[in-house]
Amino acid sequence: MAVWQETYQQARLEEQLADGSVRCHLSPRNCVIKEGQFGFCGVRGNRDGHLVTYSYGKGVHATEERIETEAVFHFEPGARILSLGNIGCMLNCTYCQNWKTSQARFVEDHDVHSYTPEGIIETALRHGIRVLSWTYNDPVVWHEFVRDTARLAKEAGLINLFKSAFYITIEAVDELLPYIDIFSISLKSLDEKYYPKVTAGEMQPVLDATKHVYNAGKHVEVSTLMITDLSDDEDTARKITDWVLRELDATVPMHFVRFHPDYRLRNTIRTPIPRLLRAQAIAREMGVEHVYVGNVNDPEVAKSCCAGCGATLVTRFGLNARNVGLDERGHCAACGRDAHFKLRGALGTDQLTVPALPAADFKLHDLDWHGDIALMHIEARNPTAQPASLYYRRRDGNGANDPWQVLTLTPGESYRFALAKASPGEIGPELAIDRALETNLHEVYDRAHFPTVTIDEGVADNDVTPLPHYEGKQNSVENLHRFISGAA
Ligand code: SF4
Repeated sequence: MAVWQETYQQARLEEQLADGSVRCHLSPRNCVIKEGQFGFCGVRGNRDGHLVTYSYGKGVHATEERIETEAVFHFEPGARILSLGNIGCMLNCTYCQNWKTSQARFVEDHDVHSYTPEGIIETALRHGIRVLSWTYNDPVVWHEFVRDTARLAKEAGLINLFKSAFYITIEAVDELLPYIDIFSISLKSLDEKYYPKVTAGEMQPVLDATKHVYNAGKHVEVSTLMITDLSDDEDTARKITDWVLRELDATVPMHFVRFHPDYRLRNTIRTPIPRLLRAQAIAREMGVEHVYVGNVNDPEVAKSCCAGCGATLVTRFGLNARNVGLDERGHCAACGRDAHFKLRGALGTDQLTVPALPAADFKLHDLDWHGDIALMHIEARNPTAQPASLYYRRRDGNGANDPWQVLTLTPGESYRFALAKASPGEIGPELAIDRALETNLHEVYDRAHFPTVTIDEGVADNDVTPLPHYEGKQNSVENLHRFISGAA
């Protein structure tokens, strides 16, 4: 048994059964758990006839990112967020992009950190971050900790974002609704056979929960990870769009997201870009006002335009967004049409910049973006009794580097943040790290991917570079149906 499994506390949404078992009402799986056993997710169980959570306050390293990481494009573009991932999951997707943390049996103690609600809020406020993002593996199974922290965060004036596959009961959603402002929902497919076959879950509860938060007036965006030859076909794009239009509305932003081979689905390649573009075109033709392609570094597929006059509203490259055409109400500045953006202002200012490095003893690193690697996580720990700083800037191919930005860590603090390529000409970041700091650098393959392997340890074997010139299988739709029906 891992160390993180040695402590636990009472969980919510418990039903005690006559034989000493407990039924969990957090996800629609409704596990019935016998004494001493775990539920499907591996982080809830039965101890002494009570439903307990083993993961309260236990998560992967909190990470500063941008709100675009979470497929949220219409809520304060470019806002800095504090991403909070935990361990375990109520699903087991064949292609999981975060399987080392979502599947409890693979979680290693050194990847598990301890947090308190107060500590998270203090970290966010100290670093000028105003959005907490509950994300990565899946926040559903961190229910009690999410709820406690989100409630305090709301009292402190912070925004809460919930990024999830949303296989959750309505009862549990109702416990979150008072505190969560934004729901970014991953809808895998509109084929109900797909869910049990590929995710080990069911589709209808996901649809019901999504409608429930939409009807409650929450900010909702819908994303679909388009799996090569499984769910990157036109029929999937059409059915998901049709559902969004019928049950939500045409102003809900949609995202078709590129997949990379991972976990138990490695004998394939990244989603061919033409299929993502086709899905985007289909959703637009059917009437959705804002449709984006994710995990493709092309400003054309991720920019926001006015659905009325066509003016460019927000430009994006990677995870960097710039408001170029919205007025303060989130309307098109050119024609006044409502573009359905929620702008709160000052949701996270950039780190301080300095004109030059101070005279100090630094470790210097030049890192190059390469292949599909255009994003990295930088983790730093200050083991000393003094504040210590880390400086970074973007290197431009023409020598016109950005100003240095500075991050200062308090004594004993550990901090992790994401740095993404911000323009086609950028060649990589330059880091100057106080020698007192201990650092780990992690290459990130796609957004919302939490790497556990550092650059020093090598690139994870799940980070597969795509094969060139792959046209895809000719009969992808037939393959899909054969796979789902069990014939493949
Ligand atoms: S959260 Fe879902 S998977 Fe985990 S114990 Fe509860 S019902 Fe089972």
